[in-house]
Amino acid sequence: MTDVRTRFAPSPTGYLHVGGIRTALFGWLLARQANGTFILRLEDTDQQREVKEAKDHIIRSLLALGLDYDEGPDKGGPYAPYIQSERLEIYKTWANKLIASGRAYADPYTAEQVKTFREESAANKLPFLYRNYRPDQTTPWDGSTPLRFKSDPKAYEWQDAVMGDMKSGPETIDDFVLIKSDGFPTYNFAHIVDDSEMKISHILRGQEFLPSVPNYLNLYEALGLQPPVLTTLPPVLGPDGKKKLSKRDGARDVLDYIRSGYLAEALISFIATLGWNDGSQQEIFTKSELIQKFSLDRVGRSGAQFDERRLNWINGNLIRDMSLDELYKACLDYWPTEADGYGEAYKRSVLTLVQERLKYFGELAELSRFFFVDLPVNPDLISHHKQLAKLTKPDLKDLLSQARDALQHSNFETSDLTDCLNSLLAQTGQKPAVLFSLIRIATTQSPASPSLAESLNVLGKEKVLKRIDQQLDCF
Ligand code: GLU
Repeated sequence: MTDVRTRFAPSPTGYLHVGGIRTALFGWLLARQANGTFILRLEDTDQQREVKEAKDHIIRSLLALGLDYDEGPDKGGPYAPYIQSERLEIYKTWANKLIASGRAYADPYTAEQVKTFREESAANKLPFLYRNYRPDQTTPWDGSTPLRFKSDPKAYEWQDAVMGDMKSGPETIDDFVLIKSDGFPTYNFAHIVDDSEMKISHILRGQEFLPSVPNYLNLYEALGLQPPVLTTLPPVLGPDGKKKLSKRDGARDVLDYIRSGYLAEALISFIATLGWNDGSQQEIFTKSELIQKFSLDRVGRSGAQFDERRLNWINGNLIRDMSLDELYKACLDYWPTEADGYGEAYKRSVLTLVQERLKYFGELAELSRFFFVDLPVNPDLISHHKQLAKLTKPDLKDLLSQARDALQHSNFETSDLTDCLNSLLAQTGQKPAVLFSLIRIATTQSPASPSLAESLNVLGKEKVLKRIDQQLDCF
């Protein structure tokens, strides 16, 4: 068996999106499960579309997710450099081989002439193909014009590791540009040269490249090369399951998710299961499970739907599995500013209570603020409450006063508070949805909070009674 060598080959034209990361992850998993090599190669041959910070962003995103690469721009390796703009001489050497074997020629046409050819084809209702205008006589290529591949049109049948049996007719083959007049190679040429030099065993890439595969096969043949395993990944679709996922769908880049307090493990599990499953009902996978179980033949052929709620669900599950120590460390940067000055023991008690509801650490400030500061009384919380809105102000006041009297006599241990709240139910004849909601709102000024008795216990008697008094003043 040949060594598994996979590469992630992004163009630094923007930030890494979820689809891009999925391509990287699948390549990384293939390499890691075979004790192979994962390579990062930056494909920066489109100088106009290049975004300055993108290279750095790509590297930081991969590392934030733990997708380490064995060879790459900042790492070196046996086939360095791993940035295409630094490999121009290599592409020239390969281009000269094609010129020498009569399989590449200097494109003699101006943009004007090409426009005329296109119009001519359109008038004859024929698809425009460069090869129909291939010149009989060519001048030697001096680099000032594009260098074109001299194709050999034919039909192909090939296997795509995800899409299965594929075929195409000769009409898809054309004389494409190998090297542009700015001296940079096209993707079509450069990736074939690099994948061959870097001994890549599997290519994984998006669907946009599928229509060009016959042309690539033609070039592999002209170069006497055996293509790697070709793999086309279906697109990641937006939440509507129709259009390709875009920024407008609210999908953020990986570093944004990390900054908002998502766990790398959750992102990995979520991204891996965009279009892949192991055939069981399992929904959350650790990295080592993925390394063990991942296979290309279980990647679906249709688009995978991006649903952030599923990511939140996975992340919330992993947060609930954390020990208090792990959670405390992970949350250090996410406390509300009002928590400054509060000690570790108090914060730990707060965390124990909010852990259940936390979907990502970024929510901590909002969910925990009332533990640290007396929020102003918000009358909407009562007027928008289904049950409480039905009660008159005097009734609300009376109910809350009874609660205050009872709580005043509690020692504020959770078990005592639980007993106290239960006796209050009996005493007032109210339902928990009324009585407990009222106490909850008065003491937290939030529509929801962790278990009432536990929250009151953490807040302590002084804060609780003070807040109840504030609320009573508003009736
Ligand atoms: N540079 C291409 C892109 O970013 C990579 C495609 C490939 O992996 O070959 O879309």
